[in-house]
Amino acid sequence: MASLPRLTIRSSLAATASVRPSTLRLQNFAKFGTRSVYGQATEYLQMNDLDLTESQRTVREAIAKICQKFPDEYWKKLDDNGTFSLDLHSALAKDGWLGICMPAQYGGAELGISEATIMMQTLSESGGGLTAASSVHMNIFGLEPVVKFGTQEQKDRWLPPLIAGKERACFGVTEPDTGLDTLKLKSLATKDPRSDSYTLRGSKIWTSTAQTAEKILILVRTTPLEEVKKSTEGLSLFYTDLDRSAVEITEIKKLGRAAVDSNMLMFDGWKVPKADLIGEEGNGFKMIMQGMNAERLLLGGEAIGLGFAGLRRAANYASERQVFGRPIGKNQGIQHPLAESWMKLESARLLLYQGAKL
Ligand SMILES: Cc1cc2nc3c(=O)[nH]c(=O)nc-3n(C[C@H](O)[C@H](O)[C@H](O)COP(=O)(O)OP(=O)(O)OC[C@H]3O[C@@H](n4cnc5c(N)ncnc54)[C@H](O)[C@@H]3O)c2cc1C
Repeated sequence: MASLPRLTIRSSLAATASVRPSTLRLQNFAKFGTRSVYGQATEYLQMNDLDLTESQRTVREAIAKICQKFPDEYWKKLDDNGTFSLDLHSALAKDGWLGICMPAQYGGAELGISEATIMMQTLSESGGGLTAASSVHMNIFGLEPVVKFGTQEQKDRWLPPLIAGKERACFGVTEPDTGLDTLKLKSLATKDPRSDSYTLRGSKIWTSTAQTAEKILILVRTTPLEEVKKSTEGLSLFYTDLDRSAVEITEIKKLGRAAVDSNMLMFDGWKVPKADLIGEEGNGFKMIMQGMNAERLLLGGEAIGLGFAGLRRAANYASERQVFGRPIGKNQGIQHPLAESWMKLESARLLLYQGAKL
């Protein structure tokens, strides 16, 4: 399978491509056969892909093929041990998928948010669920503020290692007292007049993957809330090394998604170079929304993929499980809720794709 960056499709809406995704897809199937080789593990490919464009279908099939290497037993073991999936991260990085939406000049594929949404749906739908999706989620659109507002030097410095899978990033917005109400963030960065740096003081909570990430995209106040005219002002965005000598990182034990760590970060006196500030000081809120709006679509894809994965298992079980001498799926009392679930998931999927297209 050719690696993704060699495709030059600009977006799902663009008609031209130097390599036709359909060619890739046919080669793929010719090489590996159809159902007999894909079998159970990718049976879902046929379930809901009639409305996909060629590039979306190529993404879906290529991701499903990678996911074949990660069966249910793999995810179960990781979940039991609470271990992060470095293998999936590397496999996706190897074929260029971590840069699916990133500019080609940094190693990205410049595909659209529709393709990225389908990628995340497929990762989840393969059976990896939110564990698989969350292990790369931040890489997919998290650095959009850097792409849009970073300097040339910053993009050269940050994007290639992220896309190549050499560096992993986490995302520090939520604070213990501030969830959805992002404008109330309290962590503060103070500019040091004697050096080209800021000193960060405060805390973050729920930071996913901070146990192993090398980098963090972090939103903090550079002007306290009481001193700004508008609450959307005074927040600044940094992409910087997650300096473990200055940040105390404590894992939060939780039920579910055990293989993707959630953390509390405490810092007081964390020096961050001014060179790691993205865009203008005080403009961070507007910039972070560039990534967060798109992130909603990715999360929608992940949730829908998980729903289809659950439904597939339920339908399979209904065919296999024999009670009173016949499969329980022969009973309408079992069939109707399965059909209703499919309708709801399919409606959600169509709505999501429409959002991604727009
Ligand atoms: C597993 C996990 C991983 C996460 N990973 C990260 C991460 O990597 N980085 C990061 O920065 N954050 C992360 N988060 C945090 C996540 O983004 C927040 O949980 C989210 O923003 C919601 O904030 P909150 O939990 O404080 O809810 P709150 O803001 O306290 O809201 C509580 C509830 O009230 C409801 N509510 C609030 N206002 C209204 C209103 N006006 N009308 C009606 N209902 C309302 C909300 O919908 C919610 O149900 C993670 C969270 C979890 C659970």
